[in-house]
Amino acid sequence: MNSQIIGLRKVINASGRMSILGVSTLHDSVVDAIRVGGQSYVEMDDLIEKSGQIVSSYIQSESALVVNSASAGIALSVAGLITKNNHYLIPKLHQVAPLLSNEVLILKGHHVDYGAPIETMVNLGGGQLKEVGYANGCSIQQLEAAIHKQTVAFLFVQSHHCVQKNMPSLVEVSEICQKKSIPLIVDAAAEEDFTSFSHLADLVIFSGSKALEGPTSGIIAGKNEYIQYIKYHLKGIGRAMKVGKESIFGLIQAIANYQTNRNNIDSQLAQLKQLEVLSQFDGIQVSIQSDEAGREIYRARIHIDPKKSRLSALQVVKKLREGEPAIYTRDYHANTGHFDIDPRPLLSGDMEMIVEKLQQILGGK
Ligand SMILES: *Cc1c(COP(=O)(O)O)cnc(C)c1O
Repeated sequence: MNSQIIGLRKVINASGRMSILGVSTLHDSVVDAIRVGGQSYVEMDDLIEKSGQIVSSYIQSESALVVNSASAGIALSVAGLITKNNHYLIPKLHQVAPLLSNEVLILKGHHVDYGAPIETMVNLGGGQLKEVGYANGCSIQQLEAAIHKQTVAFLFVQSHHCVQKNMPSLVEVSEICQKKSIPLIVDAAAEEDFTSFSHLADLVIFSGSKALEGPTSGIIAGKNEYIQYIKYHLKGIGRAMKVGKESIFGLIQAIANYQTNRNNIDSQLAQLKQLEVLSQFDGIQVSIQSDEAGREIYRARIHIDPKKSRLSALQVVKKLREGEPAIYTRDYHANTGHFDIDPRPLLSGDMEMIVEKLQQILGGK
């Protein structure tokens, strides 16, 4: 069976780990692990315990919990910090949260929609988001002054979606949270470096299907005490976000793979070189860009000068998407004249197809 059998269009993903395209593809070894998990009975509590230990040893955190998405990770983290170990409050989360400390601080420049608004996940966990600073900046003084007795956590979003300029750094936020004894949650859903957050954050959240290329899942890693508070909610709101045993098995295999073959930057750069032939067209410039959020990712940028080229970047991107197969580029900035090709999600033969299609489009065919 392939995706065309159920009537779906064939897609080439040159945009990144995009949820709208199914995020990532699974290695055979991950599919095998999913089969093993899916075809076994296990004691679920034990699986959750043991998988948490395996994951936390990779992430170098005190403790960890596998959940069904990074989004669930945000909601459950907030819920856990609001109700702590009070077993009367846990099942009544949404009735009692407004009466408890439930304010979650966030930098205004981090208040993003990553495909769903981050605020919705905070609300799902019983929290209320309170913005600090402005869209283009926030001072340390503003940040520190915003913390008060209703504050239950600070949520720092480490992401290319956020405003990058003029924002306090994670280190600065971490210092203030420590000084004020406020738990710091870091949403690092799409980050590639799994070990660099645990010493700064009390809880850090990753997506299982982004950099790790695992099945749809998520990870919460951090302080033992907080992970325990969160686990209580698996028998509360967490039931509506249940992660399957097969996904936990698949994720563990994906993490093991990630340790052994990190991104092969050299082969990706070699692939991107194939796009250089496009500079033969009037008004087209091809360059290599490093990631806007500082991850170790390189992409080709195709810059289109609309005065010299027949088509604008927006028009080219639209033609690529509407073609057969549908080619999705990283086009957040197409309105300003360029789009990027992300080599990470490309499958064998995809780059050749992209070059061919772009030659046709830019050549006026
Ligand atoms: C993708 C993403 C999420 C959501 O991850 P899911 O696993 O799809 O729920 C949350 N935050 C950020 C910054 C993301 O990029």
